[in-house]
Amino acid sequence: MSVKYFAEPFKIKMVEPIKILTREERLKKIQEADYNVFSLAAEDCYIDLLTDSGTGAMSADQWAGIMRGDESYSGSKSFYRLQESAKDIFGYAFIQPVHQGRAAEKVVMPILLGKGKVSISNMHFDTTRAHVEIAGARAVDCVVPEALDTESYAPFKGNMDNERLVKLIEEYGKENVGAIIITVTNNSAGGQPVSMKNIKETSEIAKKYGIKVVIDAARFAENCHFIKRREEGYEDKSIREIAKELFSYGDLFTMSSKKDAIVNIGGLVGVKEDADLFEKVKANTIPFEGFISYGGLAGRDLEALAIGLQEGVEEDFLKYRIGQMEYLSAKLTEAGIPHQTPAGGHAIFLDAKKLLPHIPYHEFPGQALTIELYLEAGIRGCDIGSYMLGNDPDTGVQLESQFEFTRLAVPRRVYTQSHLDVIVEALIEIKKRKDSLKGYEITWEPKILRHFTAKLQPLSK
Ligand SMILES: *Cc1c(COP(=O)(O)O)cnc(C)c1O
Repeated sequence: MSVKYFAEPFKIKMVEPIKILTREERLKKIQEADYNVFSLAAEDCYIDLLTDSGTGAMSADQWAGIMRGDESYSGSKSFYRLQESAKDIFGYAFIQPVHQGRAAEKVVMPILLGKGKVSISNMHFDTTRAHVEIAGARAVDCVVPEALDTESYAPFKGNMDNERLVKLIEEYGKENVGAIIITVTNNSAGGQPVSMKNIKETSEIAKKYGIKVVIDAARFAENCHFIKRREEGYEDKSIREIAKELFSYGDLFTMSSKKDAIVNIGGLVGVKEDADLFEKVKANTIPFEGFISYGGLAGRDLEALAIGLQEGVEEDFLKYRIGQMEYLSAKLTEAGIPHQTPAGGHAIFLDAKKLLPHIPYHEFPGQALTIELYLEAGIRGCDIGSYMLGNDPDTGVQLESQFEFTRLAVPRRVYTQSHLDVIVEALIEIKKRKDSLKGYEITWEPKILRHFTAKLQPLSK
């Protein structure tokens, strides 16, 4: 079961010290944070796995690019460099920078959607869903049923359920479906990949009904790596070739560059060939984000993004990156620690419901495990379960999530194999005393998105 670690394809030029607090200090910090990890100071976390978004380490080339950044308001050299780099990767005629993924959604969704329309996706990411709804439309998820089973093996658990997609289009009427959104990898299903065959089928269905295909491209390079590894006919293709084919099935894309383009801030909109559509993208970008040649970013950010896009599709980088998840997953399986398998591209989803069956959903097993990991080793993950889901907006009653996960998202090029070993060792220690872990209750919560700011306390029994 053991997996060989694919060693870091880089050496370290600059270091950022991290603090190791004692267990007593950590207990004090988490008490002061009212048992909410979002209220912890980052410097009090030894290994910070809260998110892989915008937390990657830039390369020497990217830092050099930062110094070269052209800060001209209009038509900067950095803008042209970014356009060239993005056209090279995606093969689209039109590229618009924006400040992050949700900004791309804010620009695109009102063009495609409005009152009475729906968007159908293999799964909408939460900001995508929000912008579909802000545009007045409704978001419908249509993922394959395998996505919900954490233990069975399926190579492409992020796929669209294309049979159901056809039924949904017929049901809503094709004129009411404003967009079909393919999220690669499928973040909300645990970073699970989507196969090329599936993307092609979805695209053919969309064409038949005259509906635009939007690719949510936040983790496109990781998805391409999975296609190369798992899909017949792609083993000898390069990531770049696979990416070109993947994007050929879309009409436009939105992208948070804070993931696979390894920058700390940035996003993109791409349009394949429809010049009229791109005029509308530009028209929305100017009031929402700024002039079209900077889109809410500094010239230096455009430069770092132009370089990061190219680094994000390097094969050795991706082998190392996905390899970190595979290494963690193999070690956890060996230690009998339940988690979503096969591991996705950017995170490990620990199955707290299976590990802590004595803690019911309304006492938040995912949150209990999150807090225990912080106490044990200063590791910061987060709950993806009933705690995050919140209450029914009509009745105020706690909802029960399908999953009770503790998510450990791994930043790019930041942590080494030794850090991963610390994570596994901490979980092995916790497993030994798992029956003594207690649930939590909420002592204060806001009405919406409570998990960011709610206050909790451990239950005594
Ligand atoms: C992160 C993410 C977004 C939103 O991007 P931000 O840069 O955080 O605004 C949208 N879709 C997916 C799939 C993402 O992972």
